[in-house]
Amino acid sequence: MNVYDSGRIAGILQQLGYTPATSLKDADLVIFNTCHIREKAAEKVFSDLGRLNLIREERLSAGKDTIIGVCGCVVQAEDEQIWKRAPFVDFATGPLTYHRLPEILAKVKRRKGTFVIDTDFPAEDKFDFLPANHSSGGCSFLAIQEGCNNFCTYCVVPYTRGVETSRPVADVLAEARRLVSEGSVEINLLGQNVNSYHGEDAQGHERTLAYLIRQLAEIDGLERIRYTTSYPADMTDDLINCYRDIPKLMPYLHLPIQSGSDKILKAMNRRHTSGDYLRIIDKLLAANPQIGMSSDFIVGFPDETDADFQATLDVVNQVKYIQAFSFKYSPRPGTPAALMPNQVEEKVKKERLEILQNLLFDYQLKFNQQSIGQVMPVLFEHKGRHKGQLIGRTPYMQNLHADISADKLNHIVNIKVTGATTNSLTGIKEGD
Ligand code: SAH
Ligand code: SF4
Repeated sequence: MNVYDSGRIAGILQQLGYTPATSLKDADLVIFNTCHIREKAAEKVFSDLGRLNLIREERLSAGKDTIIGVCGCVVQAEDEQIWKRAPFVDFATGPLTYHRLPEILAKVKRRKGTFVIDTDFPAEDKFDFLPANHSSGGCSFLAIQEGCNNFCTYCVVPYTRGVETSRPVADVLAEARRLVSEGSVEINLLGQNVNSYHGEDAQGHERTLAYLIRQLAEIDGLERIRYTTSYPADMTDDLINCYRDIPKLMPYLHLPIQSGSDKILKAMNRRHTSGDYLRIIDKLLAANPQIGMSSDFIVGFPDETDADFQATLDVVNQVKYIQAFSFKYSPRPGTPAALMPNQVEEKVKKERLEILQNLLFDYQLKFNQQSIGQVMPVLFEHKGRHKGQLIGRTPYMQNLHADISADKLNHIVNIKVTGATTNSLTGIKEGD
């Protein structure tokens, strides 16, 4: 979501006449787009700002001004504290107000030396005010839903991104058609809780994510559809059946369980048990046995015992995730879990994370190794580090490196997989 927001912010700046700088030293304007989800991510912005201040001072002694701004969820959470901790920052704006950047920048220029901040939860929808989202290559993000009403007890998202809202169906389809006409062959639908999408159609009826996917699948030239991130309780049968009916929907699903322990899931205020979650996966695999699963995990949530942690490992052994993200629980100010008794010691969190990650990496490596010898359609997205190399993604989001001509960038090519590590595959063009 932050990559997507940064792209939209760049779009606004381009309209104002800015062009990308080649280095920080050359930048007249620097904006940090920030994340507040865990303490480490949130603190990083202040150390980065400190480093940037040195560059700002260097530029100032050469007679050049630098405007520094902070966007994103840290702004929503820290508010005026940003300026207190980094008084050289010129402006700050939250994730729902960055469409107001033109006015904010005009104010900054008028009132250089003061701090302009906008942390409203605005009545208007930012998507109605942003310049068009342009395709940045073969694969594009498209935000369809924002905010969250789930209030998991550890999470800041409902406080920083606000209540859940969905964009109208017609707006999403128009944006998707434009992205495809500009060269995108894959669209990744984004939302904090994307499968609870309930955007209105032209008749004012609420439509689901499954409906949207079926409509998108009709677009000629669009070859791949993905969506992220989903909430288990919102995996409807209709959405599950899309994996049976729609070949353009990639057979890879990121469905975070967070913990395998029902006691912990309840304390997290998740609306599912581990049994509910495993039953959803059974249904998914019945709809399409080729589906590979991914998840997020939190270890060391308050009161997590060895037995609770073992329940998480049991789920991993059952699902055999092909990829996953795992984190130590990070107490976030203002969330209920931060005040819960029996907070788990840092040392225990660290040990559990290591055990979990080793197990997850084993399954990831096994899955990657099983890919050797298979022919997979790969969408090439970037140039590799070596000359003549491109990097792309398989349907399962595996990174694949291949020596292949540069004109295949942003195209899907059938690749025979020849090698595998935990994090990537190598391959050659089928027939080479
Ligand atoms: N909406 C998605 C996830 C959004 S946040 C969902 O419900 O699954 C991305 C991930 O960050 C979460 O899945 C969770 O694993 C992790 N996360 C969120 N808050 C956290 C915290 N306080 N400490 C550690 N990890 C956290
Ligand atoms: Fe946060 Fe996801 Fe829970 Fe919403 S569903 S509160 S975004 S973890």
